[in-house]
Amino acid sequence: MAKEKSARQEKLFYERKNGYEIIDEKEKKAMEAYCRDYMRFLNGARTEREAVRDGIALAEKKGFKPYTAGMALKAGDKVYYSNRGKSLLLAVIGKQSLAEGATIAAAHVDSPRLDLKQVPVYEDNEICYFKTHYYGGIKKYQWLTIPLELHGVIVLKNGEKVEVCIGRDKSDPIFQISDLLPHLGREQMKKNANDFIKAEDMDLMVGTVPDKEDVKERVKLAVLDMLNQKYGIIEEDFLSAELCAVPANEVREVGFDRSLIAGYGHDDRVCAYAELAAILETEKPEKTAVCILADKEEIGSEGVSGMKSQAFERFMGDLCDGQNVKLAHCFANSFCVSADVTAAFDPIYADSYEKRNASFVNYGMGICKFTGHGGKYDSNDASAEVVSKLRTIFAANDVVWQLAELGKVDQGGGGTVAMYMAERDIDTIDAGVPVLSMHSPYETVAKFDCYMTFKGIKAVYADNK
Ligand code: MN
Ligand code: MN
Repeated sequence: MAKEKSARQEKLFYERKNGYEIIDEKEKKAMEAYCRDYMRFLNGARTEREAVRDGIALAEKKGFKPYTAGMALKAGDKVYYSNRGKSLLLAVIGKQSLAEGATIAAAHVDSPRLDLKQVPVYEDNEICYFKTHYYGGIKKYQWLTIPLELHGVIVLKNGEKVEVCIGRDKSDPIFQISDLLPHLGREQMKKNANDFIKAEDMDLMVGTVPDKEDVKERVKLAVLDMLNQKYGIIEEDFLSAELCAVPANEVREVGFDRSLIAGYGHDDRVCAYAELAAILETEKPEKTAVCILADKEEIGSEGVSGMKSQAFERFMGDLCDGQNVKLAHCFANSFCVSADVTAAFDPIYADSYEKRNASFVNYGMGICKFTGHGGKYDSNDASAEVVSKLRTIFAANDVVWQLAELGKVDQGGGGTVAMYMAERDIDTIDAGVPVLSMHSPYETVAKFDCYMTFKGIKAVYADNK
């Protein structure tokens, strides 16, 4: 009988271990405490604006001050910059000059959702609906018959901003998209998942009671009347509104052992929170630590609040100006972890993964040398030197990590902000939490991987090489 494993194999083979075989009781306690805080954050921040709002509140408690151009800063100073309330940049000034580069972690706080159209309200057969336009990559059928909340802002003609959040409070109503009963679903069930529900049919039911006035569209009138009384808005105000429907589920522990967390928007608030928690614990780092919570990643990092925006140059350029450093020199010496989620191996759908290179739940932070699709198109593809740097940092700080490739070659693919950081001449690598059911209304992550991602980013901020 051949041995299970020889000493030479033990020495030569690359082997990963389940995280629970590695960590001790003390660390498990720290993991649980960290995850409790993360769950609270995720439950409350359902849009990029809310994540920025809550991120600022947490940062201010830790002594971060709003950054203003030309502000005098010294090592250890903590500042933040809110880009239009939709993305957030935080920095802790390092002991070294910015000419030596900054240590950057970049995550995003937007998640797939259903945006309201600009003319959303209509009535059909005495039911009032809001029309939606999906945002990001979703499987449309997953959004039928689930409870949905409405979040966002309405900016009135006079510039006044009305904040909307309906459904988060237990006493609030929720909203819903209907589906056909199985009894009548014979034709529908023959369709493929993509055509199962048309995007134009993903309309939210928002009211059914007709107004007392004897006119056409009485239900729509009654709904608009209610909105007018509550928010002071008229139908035209939807034109300058940014409202979205997001899942109304609670963030919950999953399984008898409570080892997993289900919630809406782990992608990518799980990495955003890890960065945030890490920079909030960073005191007087060697190099300036920078935390990015970006918007618009799910639709290609476009727009003023996306990672392609020059807002990042402006913030970093200002910091560099304060030290008489050229921004380009700072970038060339900087190091960035593009902290975004990756696909955890799912045994139920094993065929879509390549097991030797996949990431697994409970195996730690997932490092992706490349993302993209096909022949590595649209990928950052970090150099071996950059991967090695991260390996070294993680080894020195007991960070449990694993390799993570997003599915089989030619199976599909995905992107992150990594390539937009690399375009700036910044050494960048993707690393983050493996997720099950990614982009669904109720995604799942392992507590262990959340905690290790926090530990990993903290170690990167503390690195002095
Ligand atoms: Mn993501
Ligand atoms: Mn995504």
